[in-house]
Amino acid sequence: MRLAQKVASLPVYLQAEAKRRIAEMRARGVDVIDLGIGNPDLPTPDFVVEALCQAARDPRNHGYPNYYGIPELRQAFARYYGRRFGVSLDPETEVVPLIGSKEGLVHLTNVLCNPGDVVLVPDPAYPVYRIAAILAGADVYPVPLLEENSYLPDLEAIPTWVLERARLLWLNYPNNPTAAIANLSFYERVVNFAREYNLVVASDNAYADVCFDGYLAPSFLQVKGAKEVGVEFYSLSKTYNMAGWRVGAVVGNAEVVQAVARVKTNVDSGIFTPIQYAAVAALESDPAWVAGRNQIYQRRRDRVLEALQTAGIHAPSPKAGLYIWGNVAGRCTSMEFCLCLLEETGVWLTPGSGFGEQGEGYFRLSLTAPDERLDEAVRRLAAFRV
Ligand code: PMP
Repeated sequence: MRLAQKVASLPVYLQAEAKRRIAEMRARGVDVIDLGIGNPDLPTPDFVVEALCQAARDPRNHGYPNYYGIPELRQAFARYYGRRFGVSLDPETEVVPLIGSKEGLVHLTNVLCNPGDVVLVPDPAYPVYRIAAILAGADVYPVPLLEENSYLPDLEAIPTWVLERARLLWLNYPNNPTAAIANLSFYERVVNFAREYNLVVASDNAYADVCFDGYLAPSFLQVKGAKEVGVEFYSLSKTYNMAGWRVGAVVGNAEVVQAVARVKTNVDSGIFTPIQYAAVAALESDPAWVAGRNQIYQRRRDRVLEALQTAGIHAPSPKAGLYIWGNVAGRCTSMEFCLCLLEETGVWLTPGSGFGEQGEGYFRLSLTAPDERLDEAVRRLAAFRV
Protein backbone atom coordinates (compact mmCIF):
# COMPACT_ATOMS: atom_id res chain seq x y z
CA MET A 1 0.00 0.00 0.00
CA ARG A 2 1.35 3.43 -0.89
CA LEU A 3 1.09 5.88 1.97
CA ALA A 4 1.19 9.64 1.65
CA GLN A 5 4.79 10.77 1.88
CA LYS A 6 4.23 12.86 5.00
CA VAL A 7 2.79 9.83 6.80
CA ALA A 8 5.43 7.43 5.53
CA SER A 9 8.08 9.79 6.89
CA LEU A 10 6.53 9.94 10.39
CA PRO A 11 8.62 8.30 13.08
CA VAL A 12 7.02 5.48 15.08
CA TYR A 13 5.62 7.19 18.19
CA LEU A 14 8.24 6.45 20.82
CA GLN A 15 5.87 5.58 23.66
CA ALA A 16 3.81 3.30 21.43
CA GLU A 17 6.93 1.34 20.45
CA ALA A 18 8.04 1.13 24.10
CA LYS A 19 4.61 -0.18 25.12
CA ARG A 20 4.90 -2.96 22.54
CA ARG A 21 8.33 -4.01 23.83
CA ILE A 22 7.17 -3.92 27.45
CA ALA A 23 4.12 -6.07 26.65
CA GLU A 24 6.43 -8.63 25.00
CA MET A 25 8.67 -8.75 28.08
CA ARG A 26 5.71 -9.05 30.45
CA ALA A 27 4.38 -11.93 28.36
CA ARG A 28 7.77 -13.62 28.99
CA GLY A 29 7.15 -13.18 32.74
CA VAL A 30 9.50 -10.21 33.31
CA ASP A 31 8.42 -7.86 36.11
CA VAL A 32 8.68 -4.60 34.16
CA ILE A 33 8.49 -1.27 35.98
CA ASP A 34 7.43 1.25 33.37
CA LEU A 35 8.56 4.75 34.32
CA GLY A 36 8.62 5.82 30.69
CA ILE A 37 5.31 7.51 30.10
CA GLY A 38 3.74 10.29 32.19
CA ASN A 39 0.51 8.44 32.80
CA PRO A 40 -0.83 9.30 36.28
CA ASP A 41 -1.25 6.13 38.34
CA LEU A 42 -3.35 7.79 41.05
CA PRO A 43 -7.15 7.70 40.71
CA THR A 44 -9.32 10.45 39.30
CA PRO A 45 -11.03 12.15 42.28
CA ASP A 46 -14.37 10.71 43.37
CA PHE A 47 -16.20 14.00 42.85
CA VAL A 48 -15.23 13.88 39.17
CA VAL A 49 -16.29 10.24 38.74
CA GLU A 50 -19.58 11.03 40.50
CA ALA A 51 -20.26 13.96 38.17
CA LEU A 52 -19.60 11.69 35.18
CA CYS A 53 -21.99 9.01 36.47
CA GLN A 54 -24.72 11.49 37.22
CA ALA A 55 -24.47 13.08 33.78
CA ALA A 56 -24.27 9.68 32.08
CA ARG A 57 -27.63 8.72 33.65
CA ASP A 58 -29.32 11.57 31.81
CA PRO A 59 -30.29 10.35 28.33
CA ARG A 60 -30.14 13.93 27.03
CA ASN A 61 -26.37 13.66 27.31
CA HIS A 62 -26.07 10.65 25.01
CA GLY A 63 -26.39 12.31 21.62
CA TYR A 64 -23.79 14.16 19.61
CA PRO A 65 -22.18 16.69 21.91
CA ASN A 66 -22.15 20.46 21.46
CA TYR A 67 -19.53 21.14 18.75
CA TYR A 68 -17.94 24.01 20.65
CA GLY A 69 -18.08 22.36 24.08
CA ILE A 70 -20.98 22.90 26.46
CA PRO A 71 -21.18 26.53 27.65
CA GLU A 72 -20.79 25.33 31.27
CA LEU A 73 -17.38 23.88 30.44
CA ARG A 74 -16.18 26.92 28.51
CA GLN A 75 -17.28 29.08 31.44
CA ALA A 76 -15.54 26.76 33.90
CA PHE A 77 -12.24 27.08 31.98
CA ALA A 78 -12.65 30.87 31.92
CA ARG A 79 -13.40 31.00 35.67
CA TYR A 80 -10.42 28.72 36.36
CA TYR A 81 -8.08 31.03 34.38
CA GLY A 82 -9.46 34.02 36.28
CA ARG A 83 -9.05 32.39 39.68
CA ARG A 84 -5.73 30.65 39.14
CA PHE A 85 -3.86 33.13 36.92
CA GLY A 86 -5.84 36.37 37.05
CA VAL A 87 -6.37 36.02 33.28
CA SER A 88 -9.70 37.09 31.90
CA LEU A 89 -11.10 35.00 29.04
CA ASP A 90 -14.33 35.34 27.08
CA PRO A 91 -15.92 31.87 27.22
CA GLU A 92 -17.72 32.56 23.93
CA THR A 93 -14.70 33.36 21.81
CA GLU A 94 -11.48 32.65 23.70
CA VAL A 95 -12.03 29.09 24.97
CA VAL A 96 -12.48 25.86 23.04
CA PRO A 97 -12.50 22.49 24.83
CA LEU A 98 -10.39 19.77 23.25
CA ILE A 99 -10.42 15.97 23.22
CA GLY A 100 -7.20 16.12 25.23
CA SER A 101 -4.75 18.88 24.40
CA LYS A 102 -2.78 16.61 22.02
CA GLU A 103 -5.33 16.92 19.22
CA GLY A 104 -5.31 20.69 19.62
CA LEU A 105 -1.55 20.88 19.14
CA VAL A 106 -1.98 19.19 15.78
CA HIS A 107 -4.95 21.33 14.74
CA LEU A 108 -3.19 24.53 15.69
CA THR A 109 -0.26 23.75 13.42
CA ASN A 110 -2.62 23.03 10.53
CA VAL A 111 -4.55 26.18 11.20
CA LEU A 112 -1.47 28.39 11.06
CA CYS A 113 0.99 26.80 8.68
CA ASN A 114 1.21 26.42 4.95
CA PRO A 115 3.69 24.00 3.43
CA GLY A 116 7.12 25.61 3.59
CA ASP A 117 6.38 27.72 6.68
CA VAL A 118 8.73 27.19 9.60
CA VAL A 119 7.70 25.97 13.04
CA LEU A 120 10.08 26.76 15.89
CA VAL A 121 10.14 23.59 17.96
CA PRO A 122 12.11 23.30 21.20
CA ASP A 123 14.68 20.53 21.35
CA PRO A 124 14.18 18.45 23.46
CA ALA A 125 10.38 18.56 23.48
CA TYR A 126 7.14 16.63 23.56
CA PRO A 127 7.36 14.95 20.12
CA VAL A 128 3.92 16.02 18.92
CA TYR A 129 4.93 19.61 18.05
CA ARG A 130 7.35 18.26 15.48
CA ILE A 131 5.02 15.59 14.17
CA ALA A 132 2.23 18.16 13.76
CA ALA A 133 4.57 20.31 11.67
CA ILE A 134 5.46 17.35 9.44
CA LEU A 135 1.75 16.58 8.94
CA ALA A 136 1.11 20.21 8.01
CA GLY A 137 3.95 20.11 5.45
CA ALA A 138 5.80 22.78 7.43
CA ASP A 139 9.53 22.80 8.14
CA VAL A 140 10.82 22.29 11.65
CA TYR A 141 13.55 24.51 13.06
CA PRO A 142 14.78 22.97 16.32
CA VAL A 143 15.44 25.54 19.05
CA PRO A 144 17.94 24.06 21.51
CA LEU A 145 17.00 23.98 25.19
CA LEU A 146 20.32 23.70 26.97
CA GLU A 147 21.07 22.94 30.59
CA GLU A 148 23.36 26.01 30.80
CA ASN A 149 20.40 28.23 29.78
CA SER A 150 18.09 26.60 32.33
CA TYR A 151 16.39 24.94 29.34
CA LEU A 152 14.97 28.24 28.09
CA PRO A 153 15.35 28.96 24.36
CA ASP A 154 17.98 31.47 23.27
CA LEU A 155 15.64 33.41 20.99
CA GLU A 156 18.33 35.82 19.82
CA ALA A 157 20.31 32.88 18.40
CA ILE A 158 17.61 31.98 15.87
CA PRO A 159 18.83 33.22 12.47
CA THR A 160 16.84 36.04 10.85
CA TRP A 161 16.31 34.05 7.64
CA VAL A 162 14.55 31.40 9.73
CA LEU A 163 12.45 33.98 11.56
CA GLU A 164 11.35 35.47 8.26
CA ARG A 165 9.70 32.15 7.37
CA ALA A 166 8.63 31.22 10.91
CA ARG A 167 4.98 31.20 11.80
CA LEU A 168 4.71 29.44 15.12
CA LEU A 169 6.82 29.22 18.29
CA TRP A 170 6.17 26.41 20.77
CA LEU A 171 6.82 26.83 24.49
CA ASN A 172 6.17 24.31 27.23
CA TYR A 173 6.76 25.26 30.86
CA PRO A 174 6.71 23.46 33.25
CA ASN A 175 8.66 21.52 30.67
CA ASN A 176 8.40 17.98 29.47
CA PRO A 177 10.95 16.38 29.47
CA THR A 178 13.49 18.63 31.25
CA ALA A 179 11.25 19.71 34.18
CA ALA A 180 12.41 23.32 33.64
CA ILE A 181 10.16 26.24 34.59
CA ALA A 182 9.72 29.73 33.13
CA ASN A 183 8.92 33.02 34.82
CA LEU A 184 6.91 36.02 33.68
CA SER A 185 9.91 38.06 32.63
CA PHE A 186 10.80 35.31 30.16
CA TYR A 187 7.24 35.38 28.84
CA GLU A 188 7.46 39.17 28.49
CA ARG A 189 10.52 38.76 26.30
CA VAL A 190 8.66 36.16 24.24
CA VAL A 191 5.73 38.52 23.64
CA ASN A 192 8.08 41.26 22.38
CA PHE A 193 9.93 38.77 20.21
CA ALA A 194 6.68 37.41 18.73
CA ARG A 195 5.56 40.96 17.93
CA GLU A 196 8.84 41.78 16.28
CA TYR A 197 8.82 38.71 14.02
CA ASN A 198 5.10 38.28 13.59
CA LEU A 199 5.00 34.87 15.23
CA VAL A 200 2.15 33.07 16.93
CA VAL A 201 3.14 31.71 20.33
CA ALA A 202 1.69 28.42 21.52
CA SER A 203 2.24 27.86 25.22
CA ASP A 204 1.63 24.28 26.27
CA ASN A 205 0.74 24.45 29.97
CA ALA A 206 -0.18 20.79 30.48
CA TYR A 207 1.76 20.65 33.78
CA ALA A 208 0.60 23.99 35.22
CA ASP A 209 -0.91 22.39 38.29
CA VAL A 210 1.65 19.76 39.17
CA CYS A 211 3.89 21.96 41.31
CA PHE A 212 6.05 21.40 44.39
CA ASP A 213 7.60 23.26 47.32
CA GLY A 214 4.95 26.00 47.21
CA TYR A 215 5.79 26.93 43.60
CA LEU A 216 2.85 27.88 41.35
CA ALA A 217 3.53 27.83 37.61
CA PRO A 218 2.35 30.94 35.76
CA SER A 219 0.38 31.16 32.53
CA PHE A 220 1.88 32.75 29.43
CA LEU A 221 -1.37 34.69 29.13
CA GLN A 222 -0.62 36.58 32.35
CA VAL A 223 1.77 38.81 30.43
CA LYS A 224 0.44 42.02 28.89
CA GLY A 225 -0.08 41.60 25.17
CA ALA A 226 0.15 37.77 25.25
CA LYS A 227 -3.39 37.32 24.03
CA GLU A 228 -2.58 39.38 20.94
CA VAL A 229 0.18 36.98 19.93
CA GLY A 230 -0.74 33.61 21.29
CA VAL A 231 -2.76 30.84 22.78
CA GLU A 232 -2.29 28.42 25.62
CA PHE A 233 -3.14 24.75 25.93
CA TYR A 234 -4.43 23.46 29.23
CA SER A 235 -5.09 19.83 30.08
CA LEU A 236 -6.97 17.98 32.80
CA SER A 237 -4.87 14.84 32.17
CA LYS A 238 -2.19 15.55 34.75
CA THR A 239 -4.03 18.07 36.95
CA TYR A 240 -6.82 15.69 37.93
CA ASN A 241 -5.37 12.27 36.99
CA MET A 242 -7.67 12.22 33.96
CA ALA A 243 -5.29 11.22 31.16
CA GLY A 244 -7.66 8.61 29.74
CA TRP A 245 -10.69 10.90 29.83
CA ARG A 246 -9.33 13.11 27.06
CA VAL A 247 -10.23 16.63 28.00
CA GLY A 248 -8.35 19.92 27.77
CA ALA A 249 -8.71 23.30 26.12
CA VAL A 250 -7.08 25.89 23.92
CA VAL A 251 -7.53 29.42 25.21
CA GLY A 252 -6.35 32.92 24.34
CA ASN A 253 -6.30 34.75 21.03
CA ALA A 254 -9.88 34.60 19.74
CA GLU A 255 -9.00 34.48 16.05
CA VAL A 256 -6.69 31.49 16.53
CA VAL A 257 -8.99 29.73 19.01
CA GLN A 258 -11.94 30.13 16.63
CA ALA A 259 -9.89 28.83 13.71
CA VAL A 260 -9.07 25.69 15.75
CA ALA A 261 -12.80 25.39 16.50
CA ARG A 262 -13.62 25.65 12.79
CA VAL A 263 -11.29 22.75 11.99
CA LYS A 264 -12.62 20.69 14.87
CA THR A 265 -16.24 21.11 13.89
CA ASN A 266 -15.28 19.62 10.54
CA VAL A 267 -13.24 16.66 11.76
CA ASP A 268 -14.66 15.53 15.11
CA SER A 269 -17.92 15.68 16.97
CA GLY A 270 -16.81 16.89 20.36
CA ILE A 271 -16.27 15.41 23.81
CA PHE A 272 -18.83 12.96 25.29
CA THR A 273 -21.12 15.32 27.21
CA PRO A 274 -20.90 13.54 30.61
CA ILE A 275 -17.10 13.92 30.44
CA GLN A 276 -17.62 17.64 29.91
CA TYR A 277 -19.78 17.86 33.06
CA ALA A 278 -17.15 15.87 34.95
CA ALA A 279 -14.51 18.33 33.73
CA VAL A 280 -16.63 21.19 35.08
CA ALA A 281 -16.70 19.46 38.49
CA ALA A 282 -12.90 19.10 38.34
CA LEU A 283 -12.23 22.73 37.36
CA GLU A 284 -14.63 24.08 40.02
CA SER A 285 -13.25 21.88 42.80
CA ASP A 286 -11.39 22.98 45.91
CA PRO A 287 -7.70 23.53 45.02
CA ALA A 288 -6.89 21.60 48.22
CA TRP A 289 -7.39 18.38 46.27
CA VAL A 290 -4.65 19.29 43.77
CA ALA A 291 -2.36 20.47 46.59
CA GLY A 292 -2.81 17.15 48.42
CA ARG A 293 -2.10 15.15 45.30
CA ASN A 294 1.01 17.24 44.60
CA GLN A 295 2.31 16.32 48.06
CA ILE A 296 2.32 12.71 46.91
CA TYR A 297 4.40 13.50 43.82
CA GLN A 298 6.71 15.68 45.90
CA ARG A 299 7.39 12.83 48.32
CA ARG A 300 8.03 10.49 45.39
CA ARG A 301 10.39 13.05 43.85
CA ASP A 302 12.42 13.32 47.04
CA ARG A 303 12.57 9.57 47.47
CA VAL A 304 13.79 8.98 43.93
CA LEU A 305 16.31 11.83 43.97
CA GLU A 306 17.84 10.58 47.20
CA ALA A 307 18.17 7.08 45.83
CA LEU A 308 19.60 8.33 42.52
CA GLN A 309 22.16 10.40 44.37
CA THR A 310 23.22 7.37 46.37
CA ALA A 311 23.57 5.51 43.07
CA GLY A 312 25.82 8.28 41.73
CA ILE A 313 23.34 9.48 39.12
CA HIS A 314 23.00 13.25 38.76
CA ALA A 315 19.52 14.77 38.43
CA PRO A 316 18.30 18.19 39.59
CA SER A 317 15.22 18.51 41.82
CA PRO A 318 12.22 19.63 39.74
CA LYS A 319 9.81 22.31 40.98
CA ALA A 320 7.00 21.05 38.77
CA GLY A 321 5.88 18.33 36.38
CA LEU A 322 5.95 14.58 36.56
CA TYR A 323 9.53 13.95 35.59
CA ILE A 324 13.10 13.62 36.75
CA TRP A 325 15.55 14.54 33.98
CA GLY A 326 18.75 12.69 34.72
CA ASN A 327 22.16 12.41 33.16
CA VAL A 328 23.54 9.14 31.81
CA ALA A 329 26.96 10.72 32.43
CA GLY A 330 28.53 9.82 29.11
CA ARG A 331 28.34 6.10 29.87
CA CYS A 332 26.77 5.42 26.43
CA THR A 333 23.99 6.94 24.32
CA SER A 334 20.73 7.52 26.13
CA MET A 335 18.97 4.96 23.91
CA GLU A 336 21.62 2.32 24.68
CA PHE A 337 21.37 3.16 28.38
CA CYS A 338 17.57 2.82 28.45
CA LEU A 339 17.37 -0.32 26.30
CA CYS A 340 20.13 -2.00 28.26
CA LEU A 341 18.47 -1.00 31.53
CA LEU A 342 15.18 -2.47 30.31
CA GLU A 343 16.74 -5.76 29.17
CA GLU A 344 18.83 -6.24 32.29
CA THR A 345 16.64 -4.87 35.05
CA GLY A 346 13.12 -4.60 33.67
CA VAL A 347 13.00 -0.84 34.34
CA TRP A 348 11.93 1.36 31.44
CA LEU A 349 12.91 5.02 31.33
CA THR A 350 12.52 7.21 28.28
CA PRO A 351 15.78 7.99 26.47
CA GLY A 352 16.35 11.74 26.22
CA SER A 353 17.16 11.42 22.52
CA GLY A 354 13.53 10.46 21.92
CA PHE A 355 12.68 14.11 22.58
CA GLY A 356 15.22 15.53 20.13
CA GLU A 357 18.93 15.69 19.44
CA GLN A 358 19.63 17.85 22.49
CA GLY A 359 18.09 15.22 24.72
CA GLU A 360 21.04 12.94 24.01
CA GLY A 361 22.86 12.09 27.21
CA TYR A 362 19.76 12.21 29.40
CA PHE A 363 16.93 9.97 30.54
CA ARG A 364 13.45 10.89 31.71
CA LEU A 365 12.00 9.13 34.71
CA SER A 366 8.30 9.52 35.35
CA LEU A 367 7.07 9.70 38.95
CA THR A 368 3.80 8.01 38.06
CA ALA A 369 4.26 4.81 40.07
CA PRO A 370 3.58 3.93 43.72
CA ASP A 371 6.40 4.35 46.28
CA GLU A 372 7.29 0.67 46.49
CA ARG A 373 7.63 0.39 42.70
CA LEU A 374 9.73 3.56 42.52
CA ASP A 375 11.96 2.24 45.33
CA GLU A 376 12.34 -1.06 43.53
CA ALA A 377 13.11 0.71 40.25
CA VAL A 378 15.81 2.85 41.82
CA ARG A 379 17.26 -0.17 43.64
CA ARG A 380 17.59 -1.93 40.28
CA LEU A 381 19.02 1.22 38.70
CA ALA A 382 21.66 1.52 41.41
CA ALA A 383 22.82 -2.05 40.81
CA PHE A 384 22.91 -1.53 37.04
CA ARG A 385 26.24 -1.08 35.29
CA VAL A 386 26.61 -0.47 31.57
N1 PMP B 1 1.77 18.50 26.22
C1 PMP B 1 2.73 17.90 26.91
C2 PMP B 1 3.99 18.63 27.17
C3 PMP B 1 2.56 16.59 27.36
O1 PMP B 1 3.53 15.99 28.03
C4 PMP B 1 1.34 15.91 27.07
C5 PMP B 1 1.07 14.51 27.51
N2 PMP B 1 2.10 13.76 27.93
C6 PMP B 1 0.38 16.60 26.34
C7 PMP B 1 0.60 17.89 25.93
C8 PMP B 1 -0.90 15.96 25.94
O2 PMP B 1 -1.79 15.90 26.98
P1 PMP B 1 -3.31 15.51 26.78
O3 PMP B 1 -3.53 14.29 27.60
O4 PMP B 1 -4.07 16.69 27.26
O5 PMP B 1 -3.54 15.25 25.33
